[in-house]
Amino acid sequence: PHPTPAAPSTDPFALAKALSGVHFIGGAYVPARSGKTFAVVNPATGAEVARAAEGDATDVDAAVQNAAKAQKDWAKVPARKRGALVHQCAQLLKEHVDELGRLIALETGKALRTESRVEANVVADVFEFFGGLGSELKGESVPFAPNVLSVTVREPLGVVGAIIPWNVPMLLMALKVAPALVAGNAVVVKSAEEAPLAVLRICEIMNRVLPPGVFNMVSGFGPECGAPLVTHPLVRKVTFTGSVETGKIVARAAADKLIPVTLELGGKSPMIVFADCDFDKTVSGALTSMRFTRQGQSCTAASRIYVERPIFDRFVTAMTGAVNGMVMGDPLDEATDIGTIVSEGQLEKVRGFIAEGTATPGATAHVCSAMPTDPALKKGLFIQPVIFTGLTKDSRLVREEIFGPVTVIQPFDDPESVLAEANDSDYGLAASLWTNNLKVGLDLAHRLEAGLVQINQNLVVQANLSYGGVKSSGLGKEASLEAMLEHFTHKKTIMVNMA
Ligand code: NAD
Repeated sequence: PHPTPAAPSTDPFALAKALSGVHFIGGAYVPARSGKTFAVVNPATGAEVARAAEGDATDVDAAVQNAAKAQKDWAKVPARKRGALVHQCAQLLKEHVDELGRLIALETGKALRTESRVEANVVADVFEFFGGLGSELKGESVPFAPNVLSVTVREPLGVVGAIIPWNVPMLLMALKVAPALVAGNAVVVKSAEEAPLAVLRICEIMNRVLPPGVFNMVSGFGPECGAPLVTHPLVRKVTFTGSVETGKIVARAAADKLIPVTLELGGKSPMIVFADCDFDKTVSGALTSMRFTRQGQSCTAASRIYVERPIFDRFVTAMTGAVNGMVMGDPLDEATDIGTIVSEGQLEKVRGFIAEGTATPGATAHVCSAMPTDPALKKGLFIQPVIFTGLTKDSRLVREEIFGPVTVIQPFDDPESVLAEANDSDYGLAASLWTNNLKVGLDLAHRLEAGLVQINQNLVVQANLSYGGVKSSGLGKEASLEAMLEHFTHKKTIMVNMA
């Protein structure tokens, strides 16, 4: 038995230590077979808070074998009962919201009040939603010929491999695991190397309700631990969230086995602001959509904002003012709006983009908010958010995903030109339009190349609404009943000749 407390913990540091050095396989915490571990670091201080088990193909095999064994019995549990059990997980997760929020804030640097606790709440909501869908695993009866009964049934795929990134690990895990389980699959999750702890804690919480083995988690690095999960012969489906580059590697490996794969990849989401918008609501919407509270580390962050020329200057002034009002500091402090970047590598990447933008002739870097002054945070991976103006559409800052607190605001003159610029991107995840002219708004909403378009609303990801991108942003959808049916079951046709 591993010494994690059953009751919600108020001390994320103690909990992180207790979760050190283990995977979750077959209903129990187990160390890596190799005995190897790697550091989990608090990005706000640079201090090591835990060691994570460094998984390899041997650990992955143990997890998959356990999952395959457990799946056989799990698939026999009536679908509504499976749903009810997943729903029970939601109830337990609700009791642990504050604890999970603190733990994810500790390992990712996302502020507790603005981001981390919110994520924990949404995780419970996702389990609750999918838990209610057991009875939706229905088939059809299809007319074929007299005296022939022809029906379709939904069957689970078997063992699902789920690979997640570090930016919203609990939520992305939930969006994969909850529908996969309700559909009768067993799951092996490969956590992100930067943030393995909160998802590991969720394993123990789920294990209080679910049979051992239907849910397993291994931690480790991509090539050593993620790749063997994709290629394992017993894994019959891979669902992946991460970068485009890794997504392609995963898709190629899945193609070699001819197994289905769902990919949620990057984004460069445009926000289009018309002069007739409700100005204050739009500024507050932009503040949320830029996701500076998550240091811009969001695939759906509004990282390109196009503003109709008559209100351009006023909008830029309002935005810089609003961002300046945000407090950067200790992620665990309730007063903090903005925490840290997740890792040094990521920080260097973001700094590189900012340096390039700043050096671009004609560009202005509006550096906002203040660095924290607390000496305890002097090694923290903080960076001041930057709003750029004066960049053109060829700039790398306009074209590439930065995954940092950097937004480019550009003026536009008419709906057709802004539509062309918004669509001139490899990505197609999300977009938003801000206008009181719904005729123009709806027309553009139909013509924007994105999986998700919102008019006069911040981005909301809802468990019951289909979510996912087009173009390089991905393949397949998450959330919604459709995602559970299409991506975690296959449809079998059964015919009975009664003549
Ligand atoms: P990443 O691609 O580097 O890593 C994602 C996961 O893949 C990690 O668990 C990693 O260990 C694993 N991995 C790496 N190499 C692998 C391999 N060869 N085989 C199998 N697994 C491997 O991405 P990241 O830096 O952790 O996350 C940031 C990216 O995630 C951004 O591009 C962001 O846009 C994207 N993202 C997308 C969504 C979405 O819903 N579309 C949501 C969040 C993040």
